[in-house]
Amino acid sequence: MAKQSTKTTKLTVTKKSPKYIFIVGGVMSGVGKGIASSSIATVLQAQNLKVTAMKIDPYINVDAGTMNPTEHGECFVLASGLETDQDMGNYERFLGQDLPSINYMTTGSVYLSVVQKERNLEYKGKCVEVVPDIPLEVIRRIKAAGTEAKADIVQVEVGGTVGEYQNVLFLEAIRMMKSETPTDVAVVMVSYLPVPGSIGEMKTKPTQTAVRMLNSAGVFADVIIARGPVAIDQKRKEKIATFCNVKPENVISAPDVSSIYDIPLNFERDNLSRQLCSLLGLPYKAKADMKAWQQFVNRSKNTKGVVKIAVVGKYFSTGDFVLSDVYLSVLEAIKYSAYKLGLKPEITYRSSLDFEEGNKLAELKKYDGIIVPGGFGRTGVEGKLRVIEYARTHQIPYFGICYGMQLAVLEYARNVLKMKSVSTEEIDPKADHLVIGIMDDQREKIAAQDMGGSMRLGAFEANIKPKTQAADAYKATTITERHRHRYEVNTQYVDDLEAAGLIFSVVSSDGRLMEMVELPKESHPFFIGTQFHPELQARPLCPHPLFTAFIKAAASKK
Ligand code: GLN
Repeated sequence: MAKQSTKTTKLTVTKKSPKYIFIVGGVMSGVGKGIASSSIATVLQAQNLKVTAMKIDPYINVDAGTMNPTEHGECFVLASGLETDQDMGNYERFLGQDLPSINYMTTGSVYLSVVQKERNLEYKGKCVEVVPDIPLEVIRRIKAAGTEAKADIVQVEVGGTVGEYQNVLFLEAIRMMKSETPTDVAVVMVSYLPVPGSIGEMKTKPTQTAVRMLNSAGVFADVIIARGPVAIDQKRKEKIATFCNVKPENVISAPDVSSIYDIPLNFERDNLSRQLCSLLGLPYKAKADMKAWQQFVNRSKNTKGVVKIAVVGKYFSTGDFVLSDVYLSVLEAIKYSAYKLGLKPEITYRSSLDFEEGNKLAELKKYDGIIVPGGFGRTGVEGKLRVIEYARTHQIPYFGICYGMQLAVLEYARNVLKMKSVSTEEIDPKADHLVIGIMDDQREKIAAQDMGGSMRLGAFEANIKPKTQAADAYKATTITERHRHRYEVNTQYVDDLEAAGLIFSVVSSDGRLMEMVELPKESHPFFIGTQFHPELQARPLCPHPLFTAFIKAAASKK
């Protein structure tokens, strides 16, 4: 055993502990709890408070990387490389901050660390129990996130809805924290108030039931965000106040809106930051700093032209419903750049399967630009390749992200270099020429079935070659972008591809990985692929330069 150090470390306490806001869901899911949480964080940040935002997902999955996007929506990769829920992306975008790994947890990750600690004898022979040891680990992480961010406020969104079996241990963590320091903890419930068509009246009963369920876990709501098709009226605010034990002024109206970016402004109309500051004993200034946000919202509403973008992917449908969540960050990144250029984006999702055969390709003419976003596996790949070929040969601005770049390279090898038996190792490992190959370390991981959190993940630095479109867009010589992939351009083929006209304009710092590919401006108005995911760093107040360059090219398409 290591000898214990006898050195004394002087602890300098520089700051008092942060305040904690927990956000829980009423009986209905899918009512925009993530956006409500992001908006709460935004209005508090506008109070000049240092806010950090966390998400708890009740899944056993250790992270969001192993979940099918059609079930769980987009997997958002943090700079650290942690694969998380799309709400982490919402927080980063609304707050304009990178968030660290400690800010995301799942039931699986919490159990995993408790079990690992037990194996390391960190519980010193004690019997380790679900309660209190699981909630205590949750609390440890919440406090650690506050320390890491040096936050005034740690905001924690608990995924799912109250009354779900999976939530109980997280509610227990809230209860324990509230009883430890009651004045430092506030609980916000986001609840839906339906207006049944048959009666046309807003109903408060589901909210009353949800509050009662929350109370049965020993947790009491301080604020209720009243989601609904329309704004809640004073009479119903008072009704909720009576039956749910909150002040009427702590019932905040949250009607459906056409743009999620209106929500922080709407919350402020109902004085949300004032109420939260008063609940937590924080100073409140009536003149909050929302100018930049307001300007962004104004820009988004005063567009002068339209830019039509097709996103060609495969994860679009579940039953009879179309999913847009899977490519959420791409969608948002398009919006920010379009608004910056004074344009309204008209985004159409097209399933790549539609282009596998037949003559639908000509339909692509009506779009000003085409994006093939990230993806995995064989399904829909031939359709994507045909779309890329069409965009390349018909001068339609093309932006390929990750898989969209790899397939652009494959398309070029097939149709320009006329290579036979050529593929990517992901699709056809037996082909003679694998222009996209598996990264060496990934081969071992796949053989060992080490699949969770094992891709090349997170932010890495890369160098931009001068006089390229990449250099033009970024106006920099080095960049840091986030990644999520197992395959890469096979450098054996780089010379041949370059001789045939492709330019590898960004290369990883160690010179080994091709990070970006492009066609020269003289031969195509915009044909760019990135091995990384630029959409993960696009922010409303700071659009991504590559998306802006793409939208600019799309807007000037003849
Ligand atoms: N399937 C490809 C890879 O793993 C691309 C991944 C992606 O698009 N994120 O390399």
